[in-house]
Amino acid sequence: MAGPRDIRAVRTLRISVTDRCNFRCVYCMPEDKLDWVPRETLLSFEEIVEVARAALAHGIRSFKLTGGEPLVRHDLPRLVAMLRALPDVDELSMTTNGALLGEFAPALKAAGLDRITVSMDTLDGDKFHDITRGGDLTAVWRGVRAAQVAGFGHPKINCVAMRGINDEEFAEFAALTLTKDLTVRFIEYMPLGRTALGGEYEERFISESEIRGRIEARFGRLVATMKDTGHGPAIVWRLPGAVGRIGFISAMSKPFCETCNRLRLTAEGQLRSCLFDGGEVELRPIIRDMAGETRPTMLHRAFVDCVAFKPEVHSYFGNRQMSQIGG
Ligand code: SAM
Ligand code: SF4
Repeated sequence: MAGPRDIRAVRTLRISVTDRCNFRCVYCMPEDKLDWVPRETLLSFEEIVEVARAALAHGIRSFKLTGGEPLVRHDLPRLVAMLRALPDVDELSMTTNGALLGEFAPALKAAGLDRITVSMDTLDGDKFHDITRGGDLTAVWRGVRAAQVAGFGHPKINCVAMRGINDEEFAEFAALTLTKDLTVRFIEYMPLGRTALGGEYEERFISESEIRGRIEARFGRLVATMKDTGHGPAIVWRLPGAVGRIGFISAMSKPFCETCNRLRLTAEGQLRSCLFDGGEVELRPIIRDMAGETRPTMLHRAFVDCVAFKPEVHSYFGNRQMSQIGG
């Protein structure tokens, strides 16, 4: 059996900047209001940067901003600029639902953000409205275009695969990559927290192999073009002759725990070892209540402990909403 994970193997910190969101995606949030985290318990930008500094001291080199919806956090470009000013940051990226990207893309680029991933589970406006409980697909495409105009190259589109909801559209999503320089990533639906997706989880779940099968039945075999050498989960594929790429995030059918190189910071300051499992360390008391040398020492310990909590194989049901952890 492998021993505790080496802190040096961890390269990425996903930072959730808020648990709030302007959408209520059926697979992510229940329809009734979640109890939002009280504002005073959210880490301030200065506190997030302090955690980022501790992460950098451990060799973590990339940060991904997420949420909830990161762009509903007031003044987010300021946080991007603060993180960008830290030494040794290789990559600063963000996952967003895209609704506010039209407004913020130029400021995010100016602040030093490198990459953007936009979530989009259907290409049909009405269905999009239903899945997100109110979202406007044209605004999201406007956001994607604004990001390209602002200088963000090669967008990634995240699509959560759900039987009976968007499974007729996988080939259509894949077809986007034939002519567009973008990556479509199909995410296996994960059973986290309390969602209101109708039907049992097992009935909605579709595995990577079935998604691939549907795409290949229409376009022929996918060609493996690049393994994500950043130890990330994605193996990248291409349709024959395509400009863009296709990826799969298959945490359910092919758990990638052994190579998982990330930790997660929740908006309230819990450092989490895994999306599914509860192994986490509370950083807020360290940051807010400790002074002097104790603080960096305890932050250091928190990172080491959290990495040791990383499971060899994740459990199959998460105890928190995805919107609270940040995906
Ligand atoms: N609001 C942003 C967005 O939607 O991109 C960032 C946060 S969201 C929690 C991050 C990612 O998690 C999104 O791509 C979303 O589709 C995905 N996600 C949320 N709930 C999920 C679930 N139950 N299974 C799989 N992916 C999920
Ligand atoms: Fe909001 Fe993203 Fe969750 Fe949708 S997936 S409800 S956009 S946090």
